[in-house]
Amino acid sequence: MEIYRKPLTAAEIKAKARELGADLVGVADGTRLDTSHITELDGARVIVLAKHLNDGVARIRRWDDRHKYYNDELALTHLEETSLELVYWLEDCGYPALIVPPTHVDPSRYANDPNAHIEPMLPLAHAAVEAGLGTLGLNLQLLTPEYGPRVILTAVLCSVDVQCDQPMQEALCRGPSCGRCLKTCPADAVREWERDWPACDRYRSPHGFAQLTEHLEKITQATDAATRKQLLRSEASFNLWQSILRGAGVITGCRRCADVCPVGADYEAMLADAHTEIPENTPQKEQRLAAMTGHSPAYEEQKRYIGILKI
Ligand code: SF4
Ligand code: SF4
Repeated sequence: MEIYRKPLTAAEIKAKARELGADLVGVADGTRLDTSHITELDGARVIVLAKHLNDGVARIRRWDDRHKYYNDELALTHLEETSLELVYWLEDCGYPALIVPPTHVDPSRYANDPNAHIEPMLPLAHAAVEAGLGTLGLNLQLLTPEYGPRVILTAVLCSVDVQCDQPMQEALCRGPSCGRCLKTCPADAVREWERDWPACDRYRSPHGFAQLTEHLEKITQATDAATRKQLLRSEASFNLWQSILRGAGVITGCRRCADVCPVGADYEAMLADAHTEIPENTPQKEQRLAAMTGHSPAYEEQKRYIGILKI
């Protein structure tokens, strides 16, 4: 097989990914992330690609605005196409490759509970840190120097023998003294270097599987035909149908924590004026933040990915 392989460097792969449309690209060592459950042969490198989410919708303050869901879904579609083009290019160079999208979960882990959180096949935010693209924030969202958390990610697995990037040493997150992600969260899901994922899932996938099963249950349990008909024709049905149509509102949804985060070169110029106030903040949230030191056990667990705090 070697004779078919064109020698490649990490810089050439990154240049190709950028030419195809990615904004950020890094290469992580597959052994640090364990890709063997996806492929035993072709996961030696995890090439992480990021596309930034457009600022126009990040300036809309409502978390549940359909323009946000659609724009983000289109950004993901764009990045998936970029990733597929990169896979074909790598394969033309003689290296088998495959895509891991951010929304991909293992159906065998589903245990008949639509409300249970299922981890994705590959933790892409952690993969992005390993690939040197950024560090994790207070709620474990990926922060990048260029766009803060306002990026969407995919990974391309490939056993091409190129140099890996290294995680950044210094934390990008400003810690609990900032806490804007916690203050804004409509689900109140942000903890100290942790997130209540099931609570967040209801918002980041507002018309997802849990909501679909609940709505179908309501319809099937309605005792009279008129109520069933009304539920069938309701706004909830309409939203679910629209979301099934192309995934907007299922694979995309709330991202208030990303919109208000001050990290990223784009923030001051493009977003700060839209997010001076955080209307969802409460005295209770302020109290919880004031009690945080930044150095919790969760920080110690995730230190490699959060980086060294400047607080
Ligand atoms: S995505 Fe929305 S619900 Fe989830 S942590 Fe961020 S602000 Fe909270
Ligand atoms: S909003 Fe503040 S606390 Fe939250 S991730 Fe961004 S910098 Fe960190």
